[in-house]
Amino acid sequence: MARIPLVAGNWKMNFDHLEATYFLQKLAWLLRDAKFDYRRCELALMPAFTALRSVQVLVEADDLKIHYGAQTVSVTSQGAFTGDVSADMLAQLGCSYVIVGHSERRKYHPEDDANIVDQVRAVLAAGMQPILCVGESYEERRQGIELEFAVGQVQDVTRDLSKDDVAKLIVAYEPVWAVGTGMVATPDVAREAARAIRSHVESAFGSQPAQAMRILYGGSVTSKNVQELIGQPDVDGFLIGGAALDVDEFARIARMT
Ligand code: PEP
Repeated sequence: MARIPLVAGNWKMNFDHLEATYFLQKLAWLLRDAKFDYRRCELALMPAFTALRSVQVLVEADDLKIHYGAQTVSVTSQGAFTGDVSADMLAQLGCSYVIVGHSERRKYHPEDDANIVDQVRAVLAAGMQPILCVGESYEERRQGIELEFAVGQVQDVTRDLSKDDVAKLIVAYEPVWAVGTGMVATPDVAREAARAIRSHVESAFGSQPAQAMRILYGGSVTSKNVQELIGQPDVDGFLIGGAALDVDEFARIARMT
């Protein structure tokens, strides 16, 4: 089954709605100039909540082929949960994706496995796709348990999901030691992790969801390392932080994927 690569930019807490709009306009212009084929590689951007409506308006007005989504979501659907944003609210804003379980959310917010499972369910129920982040810390890699750790995180989240839901899941293998550090994983490391994750999904849910599921690599991706990473079997694209803040660099990575 051919999986279309996805290049997703995680803007984290950067860019207000005006900066987000400017970035998107320039990206569309750069890609139009480069005759970028959006059917060959899908693009997505994950702005802060405050920029989502502006992004939606621009995407619809200019009929841009760029998808967008959020960086986290509430596990509840409405009510007295100050500061939370529900999956339905995001879906109404035209979001296609929601990042779930990013290492920064796991570290700075009380997002444990149970909460992450509930986020995944909320995103799927609202008709969007979760981008589930997994990956070991430096300490787990030092102990040689990195694959068990990352696969274990996938296992914990998918255990009670249906085959259909698993097929919609996107997994981003993001070793914590590589996120925002400039220390990119080697192509071998990315390939081994992606293969281990897909093998687990195949043995737990069968070949169809395993082959449908996109597995991204994330962690210090730039235009200098993207080509050797995308050449790895089972790596279906990237989740990008720092390099997604520079529109020329993001466009370069998109073109090279
Ligand atoms: C991320 O935050 O998901 C990420 C991969 O960041 P960076 O590309 O900066 O390592």
